[in-house]
Amino acid sequence: MSEAKRFPNYIAGEWVEGGQTFENRNPANQDDLVGLFSKGSAADVLRAADAAEAAFASWSKMPAPARGAFLFKVADILEKNLDSLAKEMTREEGKTFPEAKGETMRSINIFRYFAGEGSRMGGHLVPSERPGVFMWAQRKAIGVVSQINPWNFPSAIPAWKLAPALIAGNTVLVKPASAAPLSAWRIIEACHQAGIPKGVVNFIAGSGGEVGKAMVDAEPVKAVSFTGSCEVGHGLHARASARRLRIQLEMGGKNPTIVLNDAILADAVGAVVNASMFSTGQKCTATSRVIVEAGIYDDFVAATVKAVKALKVGDGLADGVQIGPAIDKSQLDIDLKYCEIAKEEGCTIECGGRILNEGPLAKGFFFEPTVITGVTNSMRIAREEVFGPVLAVIKAKDFDEAMSIANDTEFGLSASIQTQNTARVFEFINNIEAGLVTVNLPSAGVEYQLPFGGTKGSSFGPKEQGPAALDFYSDWKTIYLKP
Ligand code: NAP
Repeated sequence: MSEAKRFPNYIAGEWVEGGQTFENRNPANQDDLVGLFSKGSAADVLRAADAAEAAFASWSKMPAPARGAFLFKVADILEKNLDSLAKEMTREEGKTFPEAKGETMRSINIFRYFAGEGSRMGGHLVPSERPGVFMWAQRKAIGVVSQINPWNFPSAIPAWKLAPALIAGNTVLVKPASAAPLSAWRIIEACHQAGIPKGVVNFIAGSGGEVGKAMVDAEPVKAVSFTGSCEVGHGLHARASARRLRIQLEMGGKNPTIVLNDAILADAVGAVVNASMFSTGQKCTATSRVIVEAGIYDDFVAATVKAVKALKVGDGLADGVQIGPAIDKSQLDIDLKYCEIAKEEGCTIECGGRILNEGPLAKGFFFEPTVITGVTNSMRIAREEVFGPVLAVIKAKDFDEAMSIANDTEFGLSASIQTQNTARVFEFINNIEAGLVTVNLPSAGVEYQLPFGGTKGSSFGPKEQGPAALDFYSDWKTIYLKP
């Protein structure tokens, strides 16, 4: 057997080997060792933070279009390797090859979008009340920024944190999720190949408990961007706030899709199956509660169960597979646990609810796509994030009840409605408590050109992506000038 490839950390422009490693294994086939990653330490984080601080002066003073030129190069390098990067992503995260290719392309587009921002980054120029006085506000970089990433979008999330931070003139510490560090590593490799100066980008893989904590505590760090679970996010918030750091948190969801009586049935079923099952339900914007008006309920459930039963589960690299594995054993156990909880709560498992471990699925973490009916919104299956291919169906007597069920949650990431009634659409847009709203589309599947993020318990701080991303990664300097 050939030796596993090793992936070192990247600190101050050098690839840093040595010390312990940890394994990155394919969740579809545990025999497939994707790579060995250097296990970073708190001391590595401190060295990276010092290097980033040293690099800040020249990087932040570089004209923004010149920084943009580096980002365009990163995008070109990634694009040249699109297929191999997507294949690696499927091996490390489990999502299907087409999903992985779409995500990699999105990372490329994100780098190009923010590269372009280098030439556009505007401020505010307004007329003064005083004759002969000019006044304006211009953006300035913050300094060293720490970015802590989850495993479910192992390329796009690191990209949508890194590209805006760099174009705004910051220097960065990147921590990938331990479950899927390779896709982020490839972005760092592209930054290195693009010639981004030493110390501007640093990559430290390792445990959240050590590396993640140190990335908040390191003295030069001025801001922390985190995507992941509420539990970890809230802990980080407390630590970062004690140091008065700027912090941005994107966390969990329990996203509703409302299906009204007048929805086009096939389209509504398609949107809900897509949003709840694709990427194995492991999207923060996945629909996990579908709230269905009584008149369409029976038809909707029958058609959804039929569509879900037809989904092909397997290794995401195999032709025709639509649903890959859970990321790891612990997520697989959570998927099963919530089906058991739902049964105990009196619900009906219409399909799925089982671990799949026979034949070609024996070496992976596969879960049968699941639809659960008889759910009420007070049950745990309707209130807690599962993060698997598990859909809870709730019946509502009318639109008003559907809205109150949809909003009765601590979360507020994404929400969707399926209807042909324009008045209802606008009522939904205005009154739903969510940061991302879709109409007659899946609740998941957003684009990079607009702000991304939630409200209520799902998020904290300025939004990511689109022009709004620069608000987190820059500060304003306001100037009054009399020539
Ligand atoms: P997680 O367990 O919270 O981990 C996220 C990151 O935090 C990982 O890099 C992890 O490192 C690190 N970490 C863990 N403990 C830490 C600590 N004490 N201090 C600092 N960092 C620490 O989340 P996950 O399982 O990777 O991701 C799934 C969750 O992310 C779900 O709840 C999902 O909804 C959420 N999510 C939200 C969005 C959004 O935009 N709202 C997007 C995607 C995912 P290790 O990997 O080394 O443990």
